[in-house]
Amino acid sequence: MLDTLSPTTAKGPMATMQEMGHEQLVFCHDEASGLKAIISIHSTVLGPALGGTRMWNYRNEDEAVRDVLRLSQGMTYKAAVAGLNLGGGKAVIIGNSHTDKSEAMFRAYGRFVNSLSGKYITAEDVGTSKTDMAWIALETPHVSGLPENMGGSGDPSPVTAFGVYMGMKAGAQTVFGTDDLAGRRILVQGIGNVGSYLVEHLLTEGAMVLISDVYDPAIEAMIAKHQELTVVNPLQVAEADVDIYAPCALGGTLNSQSIPLLRCSLVAGGANNQLAEEDDMQRLMDRSIAYAPDFVINAGGLINVYAEIKGFNRNWAMEQTRNIYQQTLAIFEQAGNENIGTHKAAIQLAQKRLASVPS
Ligand code: NAD
Repeated sequence: MLDTLSPTTAKGPMATMQEMGHEQLVFCHDEASGLKAIISIHSTVLGPALGGTRMWNYRNEDEAVRDVLRLSQGMTYKAAVAGLNLGGGKAVIIGNSHTDKSEAMFRAYGRFVNSLSGKYITAEDVGTSKTDMAWIALETPHVSGLPENMGGSGDPSPVTAFGVYMGMKAGAQTVFGTDDLAGRRILVQGIGNVGSYLVEHLLTEGAMVLISDVYDPAIEAMIAKHQELTVVNPLQVAEADVDIYAPCALGGTLNSQSIPLLRCSLVAGGANNQLAEEDDMQRLMDRSIAYAPDFVINAGGLINVYAEIKGFNRNWAMEQTRNIYQQTLAIFEQAGNENIGTHKAAIQLAQKRLASVPS
């Protein structure tokens, strides 16, 4: 049994922001409200750096820095592959999202976001909500993911889940020779915002869905709705006997301890930074487990937020997100042709677009 989940995914020595190619790292502190935040701008080559604000009880500042550096780099790749005119950024607030939040804290944070004059645009992430975005909006226009009654696009999770579903089908097409998920055993780890919508798509298609979550009320609510679901102990996720494993909780679940235990043929889920380190792609390949790159298939939420900024609607975002199927197929093909991992193939695609734009 393994406890595979960790809020921060990077292990080993911390790469410097220069090594990872970041443009700017901003440490924010407001004594009155207790705000401690870090905003990371990885790239503005394709446009303003857009990425959510995560609120998490990091054990120390180093852990928060690691997380924000890696998450913001992932956003650059995500926007580039999705064809959006956005750069990559992300922010973290150090604190307990259940007990430490206040209007004063988010307004102080909003003033820091505003001080970057639009170079960074924020949105929701794990631990933050539409309400928090509304507080931030009192101090800066550089915030998205606002409630519908404030002219925003609302919850991006259904769009994210749809994209994950599309990416999973493309992965299935590559691995099983058919994208039909009927009868496939699929484990969804984390049935929060994204995972719960994904479960609905999978059940509609006739898949045999297994679910796992550390939060019992989430499990109880899902089972009350769908008695046919099988529940897996959170500590036994890695060794579950399934065709497809969909990580939809936090990052780092694909690591040197979990990969030797996996019994699936395909990993396709919505969580960011699923690979704990680069070598984990090779570990998956050594075990002939296919991997649909996270930042490719979970781009639906970003596409939705982009639509909000540009004035497009939810239908446009859904249609753009449907394209994740073709993008994922192309990445599997490219990886096969070059005999490289799909993660690397996706990064190459992102870097090609970034290099084509004069900075
Ligand atoms: P969420 O907080 O709503 O859901 C996460 C769920 O995972 C919770 O129910 C939580 O209890 C559960 N969980 C935590 N630890 C677990 C464990 N060890 N085993 C099983 N379940 C566990 O978050 P979300 O918005 O659904 O996002 C999930 C993931 O998808 C995150 O990594 C997020 O960064 C990523 N993501 C989300 C979006 C979006 O639109 N919401 C977009 C892109 C990427």
